[in-house]
Amino acid sequence: MKIKIAIQKSGRLYDDSIVLLKECGIDLRNVKDRLKTESDNFPLEVFFLRDDDIPQYVEDAVADIGIVGENVLLEKGKTVEVVEQLGFGKCRLSLAVPRNMDFDGVASLQGKRIATSYPKLLRQYLEQKNVVAEIHEISGSVEIAPGIGLADAVADLVSSGGTLFMNGLKEVETIFASQAVLVRNGKLSAEKMQVLEKLLFRIRAV
Ligand code: ATP
Ligand code: ZN
Repeated sequence: MKIKIAIQKSGRLYDDSIVLLKECGIDLRNVKDRLKTESDNFPLEVFFLRDDDIPQYVEDAVADIGIVGENVLLEKGKTVEVVEQLGFGKCRLSLAVPRNMDFDGVASLQGKRIATSYPKLLRQYLEQKNVVAEIHEISGSVEIAPGIGLADAVADLVSSGGTLFMNGLKEVETIFASQAVLVRNGKLSAEKMQVLEKLLFRIRAV
């Protein structure tokens, strides 16, 4: 019985996901189209997908398990189970404002326009802080929004802060700290659970 894992096809989680499998002693066959591949020494099939689609595929059992950032997982709100925090893909969803703005707490954003790719996480945060702001959802290059007059602030993923700095922004609040997690479909067969246990045992050993 093979278990199917969904990982990001390219991007920030790709290398670490492949390295993790390798360190678990799992050899992957090389495929040119990189749509999927499998292992000859472990009952594993690998699907390469956009990270945004991974929660849905795991919920729908197209993939049994997946590796995805907690940020994407919570934003998508799909019903899957988190099996393990993987310790890579660390970043934070942070609020950032133009460097010259007088920022005195989240209340400073009352009535302002905030650009983000994470409207759900941002909305929850603002509600918690009793701040009413306009959320502008954009899918990429959020950090340029204030510079082009699209927004007064951003809620964006940050690791070093270099991108924000280069765009004249300063990080002012952390909304959410994230890392990559292993998730699974909620209803795996006993056989697949056994394979997953075996994989987990190896993951915990590396
Ligand atoms: P895809 O083409 O798969 O949709 P993407 O452009 O949405 O890729 P990446 O930028 O590759 O995504 O980021 C994937 C994940 O890596 C993020 O969702 C997040 O969990 C994590 N990550 C770690 N550090 C950062 C960072 N500095 N900026 C953005 N994401 C980061
Ligand atoms: Zn994505």
